[in-house]
Amino acid sequence: MIDPFGRRVSYLRVSVTDRCDLRCVYCMAEDMTFLPKAQVLSLEELDRLCGAFIGLGVDRIRLTGGEPLVRKNVISLFRSLGSRIGPGGLQELTVTTNGTQLVRMAGDLHAAGVRRINVSLDTLDPSAFAAITRWGRIEPTLDGIFAAKAAGLAVKINAVAMKGVNEDQFDHMLAWCGEHGFDFCLIETMPLGEINGDRNDQYLPLSGVRSRLRENWTLDETEYRTGGPARYFKVRETGGRIGFITPLTHNFCESCNRVRLTCTGTLYMCLGQDDAADLRRPLRDPGVDDAGLRQAILEAIARKPKGHDFVIDRHRRQPAVARHMSVTGG
Ligand code: SAM
Ligand code: SF4
Repeated sequence: MIDPFGRRVSYLRVSVTDRCDLRCVYCMAEDMTFLPKAQVLSLEELDRLCGAFIGLGVDRIRLTGGEPLVRKNVISLFRSLGSRIGPGGLQELTVTTNGTQLVRMAGDLHAAGVRRINVSLDTLDPSAFAAITRWGRIEPTLDGIFAAKAAGLAVKINAVAMKGVNEDQFDHMLAWCGEHGFDFCLIETMPLGEINGDRNDQYLPLSGVRSRLRENWTLDETEYRTGGPARYFKVRETGGRIGFITPLTHNFCESCNRVRLTCTGTLYMCLGQDDAADLRRPLRDPGVDDAGLRQAILEAIARKPKGHDFVIDRHRRQPAVARHMSVTGG
């Protein structure tokens, strides 16, 4: 699939649920209303849609959410997608998770074919963790991370950088990740969805964070890319890697290779734009076969925009994009 700007679309992120067992302050409002079940695609429908994307050349799929691992029986979707790993099919199946269910599921994920996972962890401090997630306990996530490592999964720790919240944690987290063999990635906050609060208060530019880390660590530029907006550096002291995802200060759209599917079958061609295609309608239309479904996907890809337009509106203090990350899938 080639979009109008010559970019090959080979990476699909799928939000398998909008629900979550945590309520991270930058991601959700405390009193989120979740989607009624009838609007949410079944795991079989998600599998069929993913199959159509694979048929069109998508070779990497990441399941996300909401919290993907709280969806009932989600492992069956992992197994089915995992069976498509191989020549002409998927090269990689991955997941982004808050880690709370990993003690229970890490072994099954590995058996299904997952080899790398991203775990979101913004702090190693238990009380800061409780404050950021509004009610979470850090232990299940930490235990989950080590269960994943023990199951043979490569772990990348993702932390959203927030001014005055976790900015004093990054040296410690970098050392901890180095010690345990985890890559570490810092993410700038993105203005997605209403969250009760002021985003200008949270926004922490990563350029400053990087300079401060360089006071204690030697960061060597690398060519390492995962096809996404992260820039990676090798940390000489630990041998590990640190990535910086800076959607607001750095334009990464030229090399964008991805689209995002929500659990209702809505396809977003860009995280930072509102245009979307409804794939649930053709999916549930008995008159549309797999060829028709692929045609609907191709028509959507033909509308993939050139780039995003994130701004934290300083006057209205409204998000640039009204939907939450838990809807589109981070
Ligand atoms: N629940 C899973 C988790 O937390 O990893 C997967 C879904 S979560 C929406 C995916 C990622 O998006 C997480 O790393 C989270 O920190 C990030 N995220 C959520 N809202 C964000 C925002 N407004 N700005 C930047 N990152 C955000
Ligand atoms: Fe849940 Fe992930 Fe959003 Fe936190 S970032 S509220 S864990 S979906």
